Parts: sequence; structure tokens; C-alpha cells
Amino acid sequence: MNADPILEETLIKRSQQKKRTSPLNYKERLFVLTKSRLTYYDGRPEKKYKKGSVDLQKIKCAEIVKHDGGPIPCQNKYPFQVIYDCNTLYVFAPTAESRSVWVKAIKEEIRNNEFIVPKYHPKFWTEGSWQCCGQADKLAPGCEEYNLFGDITRKPLPPTPDDVLRNNQQGSVYKPPSPLPRNEDEEEEEEGEEMVLAMYDFEALEAHDLNLVKGEEYVLLQKCDVHWWKAKDKNGWYCRNVNRSKAEHLLRSEDKEGGFVVRDSSQPGMYTVSLYTKSGGDGNGSSRHYHIKLTKGPHVQFYLAEKHLFDSIPELIEYHQHNAAGLVTRLRYPVSCKGRSAPTTAGFSYDKWEINPSELTFMKELGSGQFGVVRLGKWRAQHKVAIKAIREGAMYEEDFVEEAKIMMKLSHPKLVQLYGVCTQQKPMYIVTEFMELGCLLNYLRQRRGQLNNEMLLSMCQDVCHGMSYLEANGFIHRDLAARNCLVSDSHVVKVSDFGMTRYVLDDQYTSSSGAKFPVKWSPPEVLHYSKFSSKSDVWSFGVLIWEVYNEGKMPFETKTNSEVVEFISSGCRLYRPKQASKAVYEIMNQCWHEKAERRPSFSDLLQMINQIMECDS
Ligand code: ADP
Repeated sequence: MNADPILEETLIKRSQQKKRTSPLNYKERLFVLTKSRLTYYDGRPEKKYKKGSVDLQKIKCAEIVKHDGGPIPCQNKYPFQVIYDCNTLYVFAPTAESRSVWVKAIKEEIRNNEFIVPKYHPKFWTEGSWQCCGQADKLAPGCEEYNLFGDITRKPLPPTPDDVLRNNQQGSVYKPPSPLPRNEDEEEEEEGEEMVLAMYDFEALEAHDLNLVKGEEYVLLQKCDVHWWKAKDKNGWYCRNVNRSKAEHLLRSEDKEGGFVVRDSSQPGMYTVSLYTKSGGDGNGSSRHYHIKLTKGPHVQFYLAEKHLFDSIPELIEYHQHNAAGLVTRLRYPVSCKGRSAPTTAGFSYDKWEINPSELTFMKELGSGQFGVVRLGKWRAQHKVAIKAIREGAMYEEDFVEEAKIMMKLSHPKLVQLYGVCTQQKPMYIVTEFMELGCLLNYLRQRRGQLNNEMLLSMCQDVCHGMSYLEANGFIHRDLAARNCLVSDSHVVKVSDFGMTRYVLDDQYTSSSGAKFPVKWSPPEVLHYSKFSSKSDVWSFGVLIWEVYNEGKMPFETKTNSEVVEFISSGCRLYRPKQASKAVYEIMNQCWHEKAERRPSFSDLLQMINQIMECDS
């Protein structure tokens, strides 16, 4: 590969905040663009130290950052962005011309890349949300069309943030963002400490060994030799995707005095410490929740109940591990929520959908469904997976295999990840993420009377999150229902079996007059004209909310399918579940608007749910 520099210039790089707790900073770096990599160095051209490098093939977008907000906190005022894998690199050029040269040159080099984003975020990701569209998920799909061949420095950007997540409703897959796992050859600059990422789970064999969880970050202490490094757990207390009720659940199940987690607050970009104590009097434990507050002013600092100020959250936690200082007890025991943050990477190696069946071992049976028996298994004796063995004659296998290549690229924390397939044998296997607590319907039924409103709403929120990702990618589920969602060990609900009905070889299931067709989850346009869209998924989601709030009851309990068709067609709807507030029932009714186009989108629904959550907490 040609390593001659195409461009070389000292620019300013913003820290990437891969650890959400790391402070934001800006550093001068010598940037060098070659035919194969964008590399940045500390120092001068004559004496430089490599700090990080991005493989150009992995770049999905290079564009200027539209900035009309507050001051830019470094001397270079012309930002641009480079999106690769799941990261965005923000670079600040000294002049508009310099920025334009860099953006154009990178665009030129990536024009044949496979994964160019269809949409991107024109503004910065700061303090836990996108400045352009307000979405609080760093991986949320872009909100503005990306034009690889255009030069947007020449004309103003079209004002389209409201278009966020509006999708085409054709049912075909819009080129989805690629779920690239981090790659070994990519070096990344870390601010302060050297971090390493576990590529595999590793179970400690000796007392001094450290258990590694795949996908977790560790602080590197010493590179002892080629085989062994000394490292420590990095922020094992941080639980991404865990809300208040899930945190309480986790802490209660550990039942340890001073057990704590740090989690995302309901307020985007903020964090909360949830702390468990048994000192309430009756011996029963209870949880307290403390917002991590920020000081105002140019030098932002963090503090908890009393104003002991710290530059970073890890420092704050460290302090309160030794001092209660206003808290009900000190933070004695970090409760880790296994599997919480290790992202579910698609496939065990990038872009490889075929899994070698000899690397799978089979364990207990988990259940069986339309396509056959599902078993718990292990891949390479380490990773737990669910393996579906496809019964002969149950599936249009070739069509599915084609689609699987695309489905593997759908990757979201609230979707059950498809890892791959074994197609070279009969029966064919579909290998997916294993979900410890099984299907949502049974989960609800088994816990009747034990689930409070907050837990119920948070289940709906999880599903809505996953669905909003599918919607943004133009992917229609077609059979959304509680039976097709699964629950993880940390009680996160994920959407499963998306798009799978298209491959079912059974008329009773696929024809709307068939006995197995999900009539009770279907809107009028599906029942009458088989018109599927993300808005028909929205209708089903309304029924799913109803199932959740009725703790797994069958909707339209006493009615036959044809009675339901008549009932719905005459404008009647399911009744309000006892546990559902007016606001929640209002959401259901909006999902059940007779006209598909008048139903809210999943992204609208997510906002409505978030609002109810904020009011309730
Ligand atoms: P099908 O798609 O063939 O209809 P399902 O996906 O409904 O099959 O799976 C049948 C049952 O197997 C589910 O109800 C659930 O109990 C169990 N199951 C399926 N997938 C998983 C998984 N990924 N993790 C844990 N259990 C699973």
C-alpha cells in the first residue's frame, strides 16, 4: 500500500470520550493522510510519536461539522468529523480552506468504501446527546442525508433535523450502519491512562489472574511480557442501559450493604449513583439514588450529595468508596451487571456470517417455535449462544440466508443479535445472542403481581428503542409481540425474530386468514390488504404495551380471530389495563389509529415514553 502522505498538517483533535466518564479535551496532533490510513501523531514531522490511526476502509463518513452554537474551546475554529466503526473523530482545522481540503481529500479516498452512511449527524455529539437532533444514543442513526460527493462547505445545510428517523416504508433494508467490532490493528489514543479492550472472555485460572469480560475496558498497568500484562478493572461499577428500576433490581439481588452502580440518569447525558443500604431499620434493604451534579463555570467539576468536587466521575467514586460524606453509606461494593455494556457484536468476526458448526457445543433445550428447537450452546467453548435448528421444510432457507447477511449488520443493544448461520449441513442452524431470562411473555406471566409501573414502562421503552432502530433502517418486523421479545440477565428486553415471518413455509402462519396469523397484533391495513410497514409495527407495539401492562394476558381473550377483525374494523379497541395510566393508554390508542399515517413513529413514541418516565421519577 502506498504510504506517501497525501496531506500533512497540525490540527487539533477532540478526545473521543469512548469512556463516557473521561473529560473532554483538545490536543494538537500532526495529522497525516495516506492512501490507506489517517494517522495522528504527537510532536513534529521530524520527531513524531504515533497516537492513533484509522484504517481508511473503515471510514463511513467524512464531513464538516455544522457549528452555530457556543464558542469552540480551542484555537482552531473549523471542525470536521470522521466516522469509523462506532466512533466519531472530531478534528479542528485552522481555516475554512484547510478544513475543506481535508474533507475533500478524505472523501476522495473513501468513495469506494462499502459502508458509507446514508445519514449522518451534522452537529457535535456533546454531553450525552446529538446537538442536531437531540437523540441521546451515540449510535443513533444520523438525521441528515449524507452526500459523499457533495461539498457542503459551499452551501448551507438543508434544515432537516425533524426528518429524524422518518423512513421509507418499502420493507426493504436501507443500507444499515455497520456494527463493526473494534479491530486489533486500530490504535487509539487514550487520555491519561492506557486502556485495553478484552477481545474474549477469560476466566481466571490462578488467584492473581483477572477475569476478563469480552468487550470490557481495562486499565493497563504493566506489559510484563508478550503473553501477560498487568491490568485492573476499569470502572466495573458503570452500568450502561440500566435505568432506576433495573438498578434497584440488581442491587436487591446482590443484597449487599453499600452495593452500588453508576448508571445513566433519565436526564440525557447525566449520571446517577444507585446505592443499596440495609440500615433502614427493618433490616430490609432499600436503594437510594444520587444524581452526579456538575458545577457551573468554565471548569466543570462533579459532586454528589455534599460538595466534594472532582474533575472526573472515577475520582468522585474513588473518594466516596472511602467516605460516605453525605451519602447513606459509603460506596462499599461495586455491583457489576454482567453483559450490560459489552456490545453485542454482529458475528464473531466481522462480515462473516457462516459459523463453523464444529465450533459449537450444544447444551440444554430452551424452547421450540415455528422453525424448530432452540438450544443453549457455546461457541468455541466460551461464548454462550442460542442455536436454532431449522426443521426440514419449515423455512425458505436460501432467501433467509441472503437476508441474514443484511440482518447481521443490524446491531443495537435492544435487538437480539444475529451472530451467524451454519448453512453447509442439515438442519441449518441460526446462531443468536443468548437471552438468559427467556421470552418476554413468560417473563411477564411468571412475575405477575411483582412488577411495578416503572418496570413495565421500562420494558416498553426497551422495545421501543429497538424498534426505533429498525424503523430508522427501514426494516419492518411484521410480527412484533411479547412472545417475540426476549429478556437478558440484567432484565433488559430485546426485540427478536425481526422480519422472520417472510421465511416461514406455513400458510397457516403467513396468510392473514390462517389460524396462526397474528391477527390480534395486526392493524386493519394488514388484515385487509397485507400492507406491512413500520406503522403496522407501531400498531403491534400498542398491543405489546397492552400485553405488558396486563402481565402477559392474551389480548381479546375471549374472541376468535374473525371476531377480532370485525371488532377492530368497526372501530373498537382493547380496553385500558388496570395498571396503565391515562398517559400510557393514550400512547396505545395513538398506535391504534385506524389510519397508518396518523400513527406516531417509533421515535415519537420513544419521546412520549421518556416523558412519562421523567414525570414519574
Ligand atoms: P421460532 O422463531 O422458531 O418460532 P422462537 O424464537 O419463538 O422460535 O423460540 C422458541 C423459544 O425458544 C422461545 O420462546 C424462547 O423460550 C426460546 N428462545 C429462543 N431464542 C432464544 C434466545 N436467543 N435466548 C434464550 N431463549 C431463546
